[in-house]
Amino acid sequence: MALIVQKFGGSSVADADRVNNVARRVTETYDEGNSVVVVVSAQGDTTDDLIEKANEINPNASKREMDMLLSSGEQISISLLAMAIEKLGKPVISLTGWQAGFQTNAAASNARINRIDTERLHAELDKNNIVIVAGFQGIDKYDNITTLGRGGSDTSAVALAAALHADKCEIYTDVDGVYTADPRIVPDAKKLDEITYDEMLELASLGANVLHNRSVEMAKKYDVRLEVKSSFEKVDGTIVKEAVNVEKMLIRGVTRDNDVDRISVIGLEDRPGIAFRVFSLLAKKGINVDMILQSIGRDNTKDISFTVTKAHLQPALEALESEKETLKAKEITHNDNLSKVSIVGAGMVNNAGVAAKMFEALFDSDINIHMISTSEIKISVLINVNNAERAVKAIHEKFNL
Ligand code: ADP
Ligand code: ASP
Ligand code: MG
Repeated sequence: MALIVQKFGGSSVADADRVNNVARRVTETYDEGNSVVVVVSAQGDTTDDLIEKANEINPNASKREMDMLLSSGEQISISLLAMAIEKLGKPVISLTGWQAGFQTNAAASNARINRIDTERLHAELDKNNIVIVAGFQGIDKYDNITTLGRGGSDTSAVALAAALHADKCEIYTDVDGVYTADPRIVPDAKKLDEITYDEMLELASLGANVLHNRSVEMAKKYDVRLEVKSSFEKVDGTIVKEAVNVEKMLIRGVTRDNDVDRISVIGLEDRPGIAFRVFSLLAKKGINVDMILQSIGRDNTKDISFTVTKAHLQPALEALESEKETLKAKEITHNDNLSKVSIVGAGMVNNAGVAAKMFEALFDSDINIHMISTSEIKISVLINVNNAERAVKAIHEKFNL
């Protein structure tokens, strides 16, 4: 007998038929003699709809109240799924995040899981119950409900698998695995049988939202073997694990991330300590900076450009404007019509020419590059957002993925 954690995303439980479908799949696993813990997300677009409802009333609502609101989406799903399983005559219980023991830090709307108190979970499993847990949520030490950031139910599932020492963690979604690009952008993208944690972490962090990036980080840390599978079709999915058979594949996938804005601080003095002052100012406000480009100094001045997420654009501009005089900056500009397109693959480490090939694909498509950044296993470029899908397709084709 195995202990299996299964996670079903929003589209997998979008309506009554789909909830019934999930109930059947879960009970099949249970009937094979396994202990089953199921994590579910809010139905369909519920989370987006709730955000819209909040905005109608107060676009500046506190994060505490937003988390109170958003956590309700998952609470609907767990009860409905439990009812569907009751109908199939199996013992089942639904638990909210806090009932399941998810203790998080107090960073509302983007909380991190500190630990899971598993007594209740073990007690329910000992009673042979199928346990349905609300994803995306927990409780902080002040007893406030918290949420884990958009897409966070994947992380709830992996955390449960780690805490319960589960034999398997299966992530069921509306695609049947991890592809070489988002199949919605590149219809002939190919499914990967296996991918390493490191590659998946890069893909997820660079825009492949098929898995929440923190879920991959956690799976690596606790050695949880993950499988991404289809909720609708019974076919093999993609296994995410430490090492995979090294094939000829140089590049694992292409992604794009539109949640990116660029800020340029122009005409700074060209002397030591200036970059330090710009970035420590932002760090103090909790603003994460991603790509950075500093121009070569000319006439004793230099420019520094960097990217932030859309949510950090205004706070970053405000912080810089307020220090514009002391920084002796001539001008602060920004561009919010951009996208970051990236390629990821452990195979590129020892292969010259990968970057050139990516840039050639963009050149062939007449797409201008604003910024470039690289690491051992990825290359990212910043381009205009209206070129992003074309770029993903062109790069995918260039590498014959
Ligand atoms: P869920 O609601 O099940 O969590 P998500 O919408 O969060 O589902 O994630 C699944 C979606 O991720 C797919 O529908 C697909 O469009 C998108 N996606 C982006 N990049 C990839 C990729 N490389 N492979 C597979 N799916 C991807
Ligand atoms: N319902 C949440 C969201 O839409 C969490 C999730 O789906 O994983 O972001
Ligand atoms: Mg998701």
